[in-house]
Amino acid sequence: MKPTCPIRVTLLLSLAWILTCSSGLAQTPQPGIHLDLDEIRTIANRVRAGRSLQPATWPHGARVAVSISFDVDNDTIAIARNEVPSIGAMSQGEYGARVGLRRVVELMDRHEIPASFFIPAVSLVLRPDMVDVIQASGRHEFGVHGWIHELNTELDAETERELVTRAVAYLSEATGTRPVGYRAPSWNFSPNTLNIVKGLGFLYDSSLMADDRPYELMQNGEPTGIVELPVEWILDDAPLMNPRGDRYTPPRELLQVYIDEFDKAYEEGTMFLLTTHPHIIGHRSRIIILEELIDYIQTKENVWFANHQQIAEYVKEQAGME
Ligand SMILES: [Zn+2]
Repeated sequence: MKPTCPIRVTLLLSLAWILTCSSGLAQTPQPGIHLDLDEIRTIANRVRAGRSLQPATWPHGARVAVSISFDVDNDTIAIARNEVPSIGAMSQGEYGARVGLRRVVELMDRHEIPASFFIPAVSLVLRPDMVDVIQASGRHEFGVHGWIHELNTELDAETERELVTRAVAYLSEATGTRPVGYRAPSWNFSPNTLNIVKGLGFLYDSSLMADDRPYELMQNGEPTGIVELPVEWILDDAPLMNPRGDRYTPPRELLQVYIDEFDKAYEEGTMFLLTTHPHIIGHRSRIIILEELIDYIQTKENVWFANHQQIAEYVKEQAGME
């Protein structure tokens, strides 16, 4: 907790407090300043971006790969993080299952675009009917997004592993296919996450942010064989479209950011990967920007729309990693 500056103390003590509080000294720990170079390298290399897996060409001579994913969090965060979950917050998430999901699936299917759905298993426990909605076109992929959107960075190794294992088993059973993609809830790795992802045999991860292009994850300086399909908060609807958040961005301004990101990916011939959430983007005033984005991208020639699994399989094969 931040110390509060006392009002009635001696002049000397007041001055000391003012200096401390106003300068910020002693409030932000900076243990890194005491590390030697080997220690810095060791820390940075625990999980690091390895070689780029950008292929020489995308399938069918496409200029850019476009991959759209949906994190179907719904009400799991509200349930996971509160002793007495807020009924209002749960209902806001439930909108994702009742309305948002159908809207985003209908949009993808109407445009015949494959997408990836990262689903906390508990979202499916509460609304198992989402499986049929997503599976109807035969184009979409299910990926793991935790058991109940748990904060993996705050769990011990055994608990984190058990929850991911349980999520894999549940999704496999519910969808009939074992998922090959992992996306960490809240997009972060604990010190144990990479070992868990490797141990469970995932093809790819999509939680980290070191590039615009696919790359191979390294662990302690060694290649892991895991494909990383990087995300970015810039290309996410959650923090920026929260009307009660301090980073709120109007949807149509956000559309321009997405278009600029796509245009640069197209120019550079790389990858455009967008993440949104059915309980957010699925609202009427939001789904419009996703539709306009897709319409815009479809005016361009030579775009390869693929789900994350298809991209991971392709770049891994092109890089000779099989
Ligand atoms: Zn999530």
